[in-house]
Amino acid sequence: MKTVLISGGGIAGTALAALLGCRGFAPTVVERAPGLRGGGQAVDVRGVALEVAERLGVLERARAHRTRMRGMTVLDGDGQELYRSTESTISSGRLDSDDIELLRDDLVRILHDRATEGGGTERRGTEGRGARFVFGDGVTALDQDEDGVRVSFEHAEPRRYDLVVGADGLHSAVRRLAFGPEERYAHHLGMHLAIFSADNFLGLEDWQLWLRDGEAGYGVYPVRDNTELRISFGFAGEPLPEGRRDPQSQRAVVAERMAALRWETPRLLKALAEAPDVYCDTMTQIRMDRWSHGRVVLLGDAGYCASPLSGQGTSLALVGAHVLADALADALTRSDGDHRAAFTAYEERLRPFVELNQALATENPGGPAAEESVERAKNAISLDG
Ligand SMILES: Cc1cc2nc3c(=O)[nH]c(=O)nc-3n(C[C@H](O)[C@H](O)[C@H](O)COP(=O)(O)OP(=O)(O)OC[C@H]3O[C@@H](n4cnc5c(N)ncnc54)[C@H](O)[C@@H]3O)c2cc1C
Repeated sequence: MKTVLISGGGIAGTALAALLGCRGFAPTVVERAPGLRGGGQAVDVRGVALEVAERLGVLERARAHRTRMRGMTVLDGDGQELYRSTESTISSGRLDSDDIELLRDDLVRILHDRATEGGGTERRGTEGRGARFVFGDGVTALDQDEDGVRVSFEHAEPRRYDLVVGADGLHSAVRRLAFGPEERYAHHLGMHLAIFSADNFLGLEDWQLWLRDGEAGYGVYPVRDNTELRISFGFAGEPLPEGRRDPQSQRAVVAERMAALRWETPRLLKALAEAPDVYCDTMTQIRMDRWSHGRVVLLGDAGYCASPLSGQGTSLALVGAHVLADALADALTRSDGDHRAAFTAYEERLRPFVELNQALATENPGGPAAEESVERAKNAISLDG
């Protein structure tokens, strides 16, 4: 049985673990966070990614967790209504679509449950029948030879694997170790994003509010039966300098940049200061000529982050996981397990889909991409080749 180490237990890593587990591989996921990493707002499963969810057996559960927005209001800087819609929202697009918008936390948990069926979840634990998850650890070195990869970890003893997958997000450690520094591949889109939770002190009921004032703005919407708010602040600017990327400094920068905004901003900034979970990052795309190097391959944001501006990061991760799992399974049965053939097939099949979806983030600098572009991009691949 081929052993595969997957670095990162987000959407891409958990989906791949579930898909490889069903295809005769023994996947281990190593996740840096101490448990499944929560946080973030709602993400979208669209087009072909819905088929991946169906094949994974998680479509119905994902549908049951979908957000249930009735519409949205767009406000000017003083909180005055500019327009409202009951047909679409900025976060999810058309409300009558079959696509699923659900909280990132919920999707990761659903995929994790699927990946560990018959197995177990442990802290630096032992083998199970499903995928093995190791929390609170990370890869520190990769040494490849003809037969495998020797992986060193922050905590666990070094261990050999047949293959290593970097599914560890925008700031991937596997990418840095196997392909070189992030700066070579990162394309900053000129915006920052900060997402956090608060009690629903605005009393919103299945309704989104979006406020824009110059180069900054925010979206606020209720989740979890209207008991909580998810707030996303966005503002223009260059990436933070090296010394200001720790969580405390990030919060301070966000508060500075949003302080001039009016309406409910002071209460939202108070909520930011008290929030237990703040996801803060730049809007950045990762663009690479190759996603594999020897026995190491990249998946999801690690290899081809499209940025939240595209609205397609989660669907790319799910579809990418399916294409990679199929390519590896084919190689196992057809070409003596040659991972090179599998990685070539994965790159050739997925790249046009990735490029179309990355383009959504830059198509319209003032807002979301046109509906027709999203329709085309989300369906631009067939799972069966
Ligand atoms: C906390 C969080 C909140 C997010 N919120 C949003 C959002 O609101 N809207 C949106 O569009 N996108 C959001 N994203 C990004 C979105 O999840 C991805 O674009 C998309 O789902 C692709 O998923 P991914 O698995 O490739 O990357 P991610 O979902 O980023 O998952 C990467 C995983 O790898 C882990 N990791 C990172 N470094 C290491 C390491 N060195 N070793 C081991 N594990 C590591 C991370 O903890 C994370 O669990 C968020 C990501 C995170 C991590």
